[in-house]
Amino acid sequence: MNCLLCKSGTMRETTGTYFAQLPNCYVIIENVPCRKCEQCGEIVYASSVMEKIDAMLERFEKIACRVFIMDYSTAA
Ligand SMILES: [Zn+2]
Repeated sequence: MNCLLCKSGTMRETTGTYFAQLPNCYVIIENVPCRKCEQCGEIVYASSVMEKIDAMLERFEKIACRVFIMDYSTAA
């Protein structure tokens, strides 16, 4: 699979850190599975991963704490 952004880089399976800013808190999710372009560094998440992240963010928004640091492998 080639990168959608630069068209020439190879996407490699890896894990990364997902950062989101919600209206009332910051969320950092570590060890999120993703594909990263070797050339430009573009990161792509699978739709199944995005669904889980969206569900997590909804939960965090309700708890309304200021900063969340989660590990994807334990939270998903
Ligand atoms: Zn690229």
